[in-house]
Amino acid sequence: MDKISLIIPCYNEEQALPFLYEELKKVTEGMSGQEFEFIFVNDGSKDKTLSVIKGLKDVDNRVRYVSFSRNFGKEAGIYAGLEASTGDYVALMDADLQDPPSLLKEMYDTLKTEDYDCVATRRLDRKGEPAIRSFFAKQFYQLINKISDTEIVDGARDFRLMSRQMVNAIIDLSEYNRFSKGIFGWVGFNTKWISYENIERVAGATKWSFLSLFFYSIEGIIAFSTRPLYIASAFGILFCVIAFLMICVIIMKTLIWGDPVDGYPSTICIIFFIGGIQLFCLGILGQYLSKTYLETKRRPIYIVKEKA
Ligand code: UDP
Ligand code: MG
Repeated sequence: MDKISLIIPCYNEEQALPFLYEELKKVTEGMSGQEFEFIFVNDGSKDKTLSVIKGLKDVDNRVRYVSFSRNFGKEAGIYAGLEASTGDYVALMDADLQDPPSLLKEMYDTLKTEDYDCVATRRLDRKGEPAIRSFFAKQFYQLINKISDTEIVDGARDFRLMSRQMVNAIIDLSEYNRFSKGIFGWVGFNTKWISYENIERVAGATKWSFLSLFFYSIEGIIAFSTRPLYIASAFGILFCVIAFLMICVIIMKTLIWGDPVDGYPSTICIIFFIGGIQLFCLGILGQYLSKTYLETKRRPIYIVKEKA
């Protein structure tokens, strides 16, 4: 009998969890041929999430949990869940029912009958999301797919069912700066994509602000492309050429017309312009350096306070 592990990262989800559990109970009743374990990862919630999880554990021995010492982020939660999982197949799922558990059966059947290692989901639209957020999300996916060799699918959710083999490959990527959407693509394996319309969360509020998404997208670019580093070199060459041409022009001008003192405003503009570009390029370098710095510290991705 196959065992399926469901990993659910939870951060302040006391309101959503009861709904999720009811849904999971229903879905798993319809899959009597498989054994299940539900691994709730409590990512340092400040509400009663942990006691809700413990309450579920009291009534259902398929429930397990890992509870962090503080909030480490969803990526750390996913990693902890993958490490704790013991199933032959492992699914990742949000706590807010935006990932419909009812798809699990179809996903499992696909892995069993077809030659795939993973069934992943993507949403067709971004209904219920601020227009400006959708716009920037679109730009981000276009940009990152242009500058990274790893394919990062637009609209992909983290909701997916994977074989043990693929899960082990992901666990082997123990990097500190985790960008799962890239990691899933990087490890390869055959992935089948299924689409569904965006579903709004059942209760509670989203944990992502526009700013946190912006920084997350930079994380993704830095983690899966070194192309931005070339920008600095390209600017360097461009400005060497421009400077050389300008020197030639100035020498010619001085020889032909002499050199009256003027051009102060234009000089200031150029200084600001070049100074800005230098800072921009230094910033890019700094981003990579800081990631390397964090990576070389070899800190644990998460710290467990209790688990069961
Ligand atoms: N989450 C988490 N740690 C965090 C932020 C979020 O474990 O620091 C979990 C959250 O509880 C939920 C999932 O990640 O199960 C997705 O979060 P959310 O629904 O807020 O994101 P959205 O669907 O709005 O992108
Ligand atoms: Mg959500």
